[in-house]
Amino acid sequence: MSPALDRLTRLLQHVFIDAGSTFSLISLASALIISAAWLGVRRKRRTPLQLKVLARALFPSRIWKHASTRADIGLFVLSITGMSLLIGWGLVSARGIEHMVESGLNGTFGPSAVGAPAWLACGVLTVTGFLGYDFSYWLDHYLKHRVSWLWPFHRVHHTAEVLTPLTSYRTHPVDNLIFANISAVIIGVAEGVVHYGLGAHVSELAIAGTNIVLVAFLYTTIHLQHSHIRIAFTGWLGHVVFSPAHHHIHHSADPRHYDCNLGSCLAVWDWMFGTLQMPDPKARLTFGTVAEEDPHSATGTLLYPFLLAFRAVWPRRLHLPVFEENGEGDRTTEPLRKQW
Ligand SMILES: [Zn+2]
Ligand SMILES: [Zn+2]
Repeated sequence: MSPALDRLTRLLQHVFIDAGSTFSLISLASALIISAAWLGVRRKRRTPLQLKVLARALFPSRIWKHASTRADIGLFVLSITGMSLLIGWGLVSARGIEHMVESGLNGTFGPSAVGAPAWLACGVLTVTGFLGYDFSYWLDHYLKHRVSWLWPFHRVHHTAEVLTPLTSYRTHPVDNLIFANISAVIIGVAEGVVHYGLGAHVSELAIAGTNIVLVAFLYTTIHLQHSHIRIAFTGWLGHVVFSPAHHHIHHSADPRHYDCNLGSCLAVWDWMFGTLQMPDPKARLTFGTVAEEDPHSATGTLLYPFLLAFRAVWPRRLHLPVFEENGEGDRTTEPLRKQW
């Protein structure tokens, strides 16, 4: 096998076969089974469910033939081919920071007096790693919605007009790069403190390198966040765990829904910081943002964000209008969205 073919085979295996991959076929199959079961339970007529009807409900042509989906596919290919570079950098940073924090604490306070058993240390590290990831997702997402020059790169994700599991890859490379490093810092610090505090050198529980708690969410809710299957968690459960409908509100084009539900797996961060909006299973939502460019073209998804970011920082250099400011002198994201 030629080296190029070998690399391609390994890449495809990593993306579609590895059980810890964010786009593994097994996790997609799991999402499909949950969707089919949900549609089966929710249907009004009690006649036997025909396979053809179910297939049409699961894969509506208006979604799969949409220009938005074609853009998602292009960015998916770009993302998986550049992924090893971005993730590699992030993970190396996380391990490096973890080591730095642990050595720093050892040097300052001496070796930890706690000698936790390996099973306990492993459990605590696994939960910490997951919480570190999930909080870093919320924080990164919050910054991208609030900082004017970061929003244009994240906005690419919000120009999706229909949602499919591929939409989670509809992200600008700059957006990915920032997330890889923010998450690396937070996970690295959290795991460094835990390693030092428990005085045990264990690894977190993982499947093919992905935290096992995160894998559980990947197999149940995460793919459906970008889909037309509106499963909604309400009540106390909706304050703790993110349902697919929570993320649908995040994509809503209705200004009342802007900048809410920024989490990934847990709703607690949004609840704590006041950005949670509980889903209404009956609400009819439309997705996308106001756009003066073609939001599904290569230029619109990859180059245009640089212009918008430049315009957000130096509007006068391009003789463009300055964005409105709110009473406290901060730029609000709402005028930015309306304008773009
Ligand atoms: Zn967002
Ligand atoms: Zn999304």
